[in-house]
Amino acid sequence: MTDDRSPRLVWTEDGAPRSGRFDDVYFSREDGLAETRAVFLHGCGLPEAWQGLRHFTVAELGFGTGLNIAALLDLWRREGPPDAHLHIFSVEGFPLSREEAARALSNWPEIADAADALLSAWPAPTPGFHRLDLPGFNATLDLAVGEVEWALSQWSGPADAWFLDGFAPSTNPAMWSEAVLDLIAARSSPTSRIATFTVAGSVRRGLAQRGFTVEKRPGHGRKRERLEARREAPPAAPPTPSVAIIGAGVAGAALARAFQALGLAPVVIEAETPGAGASGFPSALVTPRLDAGDEGIAALYAQALARAGALYGQTPDAVVAHGVLQLEQTPRDAARFGKIAAQPVWPTDGMTTLDAESCSAHLGEAVETGGLMMRDALAVRPSAILKAWLDDATLITARVATLERADGRWRLADTAGEIIAEAGVVVLAAGAGAPDLAPNLPLSPVAGQADWIEGVEAAPVAWGGYAAPTAEGLLFGATHDRGQAAPIVSAEAGAKNLAAVSARLPALAARIAAAGPSQARVAVRATTPDRLPLAGALGDGLFVLGGLGSRGFCAAPLLAEHLAALATGAPSPLPADLAARVAPLRFSTGEGLVQPAAKAD
Ligand code: SAM
Repeated sequence: MTDDRSPRLVWTEDGAPRSGRFDDVYFSREDGLAETRAVFLHGCGLPEAWQGLRHFTVAELGFGTGLNIAALLDLWRREGPPDAHLHIFSVEGFPLSREEAARALSNWPEIADAADALLSAWPAPTPGFHRLDLPGFNATLDLAVGEVEWALSQWSGPADAWFLDGFAPSTNPAMWSEAVLDLIAARSSPTSRIATFTVAGSVRRGLAQRGFTVEKRPGHGRKRERLEARREAPPAAPPTPSVAIIGAGVAGAALARAFQALGLAPVVIEAETPGAGASGFPSALVTPRLDAGDEGIAALYAQALARAGALYGQTPDAVVAHGVLQLEQTPRDAARFGKIAAQPVWPTDGMTTLDAESCSAHLGEAVETGGLMMRDALAVRPSAILKAWLDDATLITARVATLERADGRWRLADTAGEIIAEAGVVVLAAGAGAPDLAPNLPLSPVAGQADWIEGVEAAPVAWGGYAAPTAEGLLFGATHDRGQAAPIVSAEAGAKNLAAVSARLPALAARIAAAGPSQARVAVRATTPDRLPLAGALGDGLFVLGGLGSRGFCAAPLLAEHLAALATGAPSPLPADLAARVAPLRFSTGEGLVQPAAKAD
């Protein structure tokens, strides 16, 4: 993040943080916590307003030190409904560092647990959305780093409660503009409540014009008044859909995790065994797609990589190695990697260009080109991830042959016509097998063989080919055979993979050759015409997560959460512009894409 997004923090004599940028305090040192509770928590009718609900969404404008959210988490843990999930969305244009926030929050030992949860999840201050888990609180925080109007326009909502905490309208009109008020109204649930410290006439009138009943209330401490507003539409209980996921590779497993995190109990239907397809190698690289020119692709993969890293970091035995070196493949790559390293979406030092000498030192053998060190990229163990994420889901072993829509539900049957499952929501996560069920999906198969050997150690490295550590050795590959849907393992492909290592890293290739015969596996990935995934709705409760190519372990965790949010009406972690880039219907030329293979008459 560049300096012009700094809050220019200063500390008052009594230890309260003050924004030098806005010349105003984040909270009062004297009784900031009590004020937060009175103005925002009580102002939104909490804890009463969430009684009896299974999901509750709070949106805040002005995250600041995180005090309001820490106080909210503390109340939720003490007085939230049992087994319910709290979803929080907050916006911050000028993020504090973790150290600054820690100092500010240390003023309130009473809510230290909640503060610690926030501080341990504190994201890099890079622009975009950041999804953070708050373990122990049954809560998720989507923190949008950027301008308030942009953030709200990108967020899906809806909010059950709003904390409007963006400094005074007189000094900071951007936080209270007509456009922002329009977005608040558009992203409010029918019974949404709003709390704020300001009673400015423009805010009262603005909310009233947008259908809120607005009331001034006695303020806290020295402040005379505060504001409460609410919508009074009759509550509509959101339906809880039954969910069937077809496929138990990384897409299916990530979906099972994401739906379960929203309190649903999906069934996962797999024709063979988990990881029988492209997610079944002994190692996988978690690397972002790099694009020096397309900001959307960079933002999508930066967010996906951060989310994948956070989730794998919490999964036992998942991470095998940190940091993947991407070697230059053409002379143009030096400049390209320089541009990528300078993109604002990557955390500080997340992407670093290395010269040939540093690459050689890193790899332990001389290479002639420089490269890009992707600090947050990983090598992971697929089996550990699939096991952890599928453990609590109902797994059915069956091959879905037909999808039929009847009585507002999907009926999934096998080749003999036996019904396997019925569900309101069906997600195709069957990799290259998805077109068998929805033939018009723009997915093409690319077969790939990778080989592995025990007893050889090397750092993760990619150059078109790649080498990735496994738990016991090294995986290297992979071939790319377009259009090949039913490949078999071949010695030629193995020789090709070893030759590809030898061309860039001859010493490593010699160590592999000396270690004895390698093992091999071949699988089919699915790719799309624009090489971006398909993650979203096809219509009528049918969804797809696919086209992940060779980046499934990077993209699937975030896209699965996006898809689960779309399917249930929960807030999505993806900004709307990135959601549009992966929406399957971007390829729709008519009705074709949404037609399943077999549909009831
Ligand atoms: N709720 C915070 C807490 O608990 O510490 C205090 C919020 S402080 C009063 C207001 C926040 O709004 C500041 O952190 C400021 O950087 C942020 N802000 C101000 N204008 C903004 C804008 N146009 N877009 C996004 N954030 C903005």
